[in-house]
Amino acid sequence: MSAIINDIEIIKSESSKINDVDFENLKFGSVFSDHMLECNYKDGKWELPKVVPFAPITLDPSAKIFHYGQSVFEGMKAYKDSNDDVWLFRPLENFKRLNISSKRLAIPELPESYFMEGLKALLEVDKDWIPKQDGSSLYIRPFVFASGSGFHASPADEYKFIIATAPSGSYFSGKIKVLIEQKYSRSANGGVGFAKAGGNYAGQFYPTQLAIDKGYQQVIWTDDTNHEYIEEAGAMNIFIRINDTLITGPTSDRILDGITRKSIIELAKSKGIPVEVRKISVHEVVEAAKNGSLKEMFGAGTAAVVSPISGFGFQDKDYELPEIESTYADFIKKSITDIQTNKSEDPFGWRYKL
Ligand SMILES: *Cc1c(COP(=O)(O)O)cnc(C)c1O
Repeated sequence: MSAIINDIEIIKSESSKINDVDFENLKFGSVFSDHMLECNYKDGKWELPKVVPFAPITLDPSAKIFHYGQSVFEGMKAYKDSNDDVWLFRPLENFKRLNISSKRLAIPELPESYFMEGLKALLEVDKDWIPKQDGSSLYIRPFVFASGSGFHASPADEYKFIIATAPSGSYFSGKIKVLIEQKYSRSANGGVGFAKAGGNYAGQFYPTQLAIDKGYQQVIWTDDTNHEYIEEAGAMNIFIRINDTLITGPTSDRILDGITRKSIIELAKSKGIPVEVRKISVHEVVEAAKNGSLKEMFGAGTAAVVSPISGFGFQDKDYELPEIESTYADFIKKSITDIQTNKSEDPFGWRYKL
């Protein structure tokens, strides 16, 4: 079956897998919808995107993605409200960041309409896959990688842009205990830390496993020069509350410009919460933990929105955070989720109706 939506060709899957899915017990990103968007870069240009059945792809063993890691991705979500209207959250920010990441990895940038119209066509076709249950959403994974072949260490001449989606339940996994990293680094000045490059994640897995072996769930990355400043919480941005002030580090070559992070900064300011965007030293956090002024720490990112931290390890000592009532973490998570799911007003214009 073939049709056209917004000038995008749709090739429908012969049968749907949707009846095999238990929407009440969804895990994160492990069941995939019937279709995906596919767009190829060849002969110096992006061809028109198509919606096609979700299926394995074939690549030459010399495809440059395997050898030189030219790959970038995005993570976003679609929500269905009680009227079955579908909403995205700041999707143009994801589009812009995908191109920022691509540029750094010498991947050709995508036209905005291919991303946005392609995404809309895909979600239109797989609308039934967007879960309605509270806390669930359709996780959307746009990615671009070097499909062109050859062992020569240079940028590929062919690329694939794909958007795949996965209905997902709420991400909450309890509070996490984190380890302030003093040896390994996630990113460096002049490096690719600001890009959502696949390899940034590969580089995190080993140090994170070492932290897990010591009884922590996640690593707090510090600057690569002296491990003196707090930078990110795993693959999330980090917020620290000292007394009533919410603090997060400034974005840089090393700190990814998270959409959740910047939404939290704007939202908190609008609610009268004092916010500081500045470098936070490990020393300051340890001192604040000792004198009781450290009230909260949490990670921020699309998947969990906010991920509260129960305590941290630093130089063979563990520091517990206090159990407090009415946390910023809960308040911010609810405020952002209510905007995302059309349960509250959106004074910021972040919600995007499909
Ligand atoms: C994706 C990501 C984030 C969070 O970005 P969002 O746009 O909020 O999802 C933060 N840090 C790193 C390293 C990331 O890869």
